[in-house]
Amino acid sequence: MKHNQAINFVSIVIPVYNEENCLQELIDRTTKASDSLGKDYEIILVDDGSRDRSANIIEQASLKEGSHVVGVILNRNYGQHNAIMAGFGQVRGDLIITLDADLQNPPEEIPNLVAKAEEGFDSVGTVRKNRQDSVLRRYPSKLINKLVKRSTGVEMNDYGCMLRAYRRHVVDAMLECHERSTFIPVLANGFSRHTTEIDVHHDERADGESKYSFMKLISLMFDLITSMTTAPLRLLSIFGGGIAAAGIAFGIILMLMRIMFGSEWAGDGLFTLFAILFVFVGAQFVGLGLLGEYIGRIYSDVRARPRFYVQDVLVGEATKQARETDELKNKE
Ligand code: UDP
Ligand code: MG
Repeated sequence: MKHNQAINFVSIVIPVYNEENCLQELIDRTTKASDSLGKDYEIILVDDGSRDRSANIIEQASLKEGSHVVGVILNRNYGQHNAIMAGFGQVRGDLIITLDADLQNPPEEIPNLVAKAEEGFDSVGTVRKNRQDSVLRRYPSKLINKLVKRSTGVEMNDYGCMLRAYRRHVVDAMLECHERSTFIPVLANGFSRHTTEIDVHHDERADGESKYSFMKLISLMFDLITSMTTAPLRLLSIFGGGIAAAGIAFGIILMLMRIMFGSEWAGDGLFTLFAILFVFVGAQFVGLGLLGEYIGRIYSDVRARPRFYVQDVLVGEATKQARETDELKNKE
């Protein structure tokens, strides 16, 4: 796939979970920023099972005459990344931009992302210049960024910021991944040949509080690690192997000492017990690690169940027709 294809149509995907108070401003500002592109565009708002009026606001916005908004309504809360995936399933654009609904990612940055992608990049990441989050929210992400850098080798400084752009072929590849717990920016790296990052502004949350509780954040961190690698399981085997080897070496040393210097040099049997114990403890870890390897593989197979269920796709009359002709074209 050529990566320097022209970008004629931009799809903006935004996950929405209980954001009724920012939604209208979000739609207005995103529309304004997208109008300035001079390209076709659509704003896909995915309602992730909100319990407030968010879905109604999305419905109203999408059914308005000449609206660029496409509403995707999920039946319950599936989490930010699954919601974005549901949005990806509906895109028609050549370039897909994701951003948060809480206006922490200014929609005014959209033209900058598009311009950067047009230089020939498959995915464009962002670095928050002036991060506006609490320390408690900031520190775990720093740790995550470091971990990712180490285990994927892809240099990106800020995985936490969802204001990003991906070429269509990257998004199509991501849609073919059926794991249930994904971390989109990391997944995208795997399918991009040319990646880059730009600086963007970061504002305080426009309204309400972060939708991530501490537990949800921990779960996100594990999603990120397990979606990337089963290396921690392998470490368990290596660690166990090391202990077992040390135990055996210790035992041999004890035996040699006993043979050469007599029993007073080798202690009173307690050390021998230690040596035997180390071998067993090590062997146990090896066993555990082996089990883990199997479970890890079984887990990735079992994950094949659907990630979300789209209850409804809401579009205005004009968009509906455009989408239908698009579908026909794709079938040909
Ligand atoms: N979000 C979502 N489903 C969730 C949690 C969050 O769709 O279960 C959306 C939320 O509406 C927002 C984005 O994901 O648009 C980021 O969430 P939030 O701002 O709460 O996260 P933070 O900025 O604290 O990382
Ligand atoms: Mg936020």
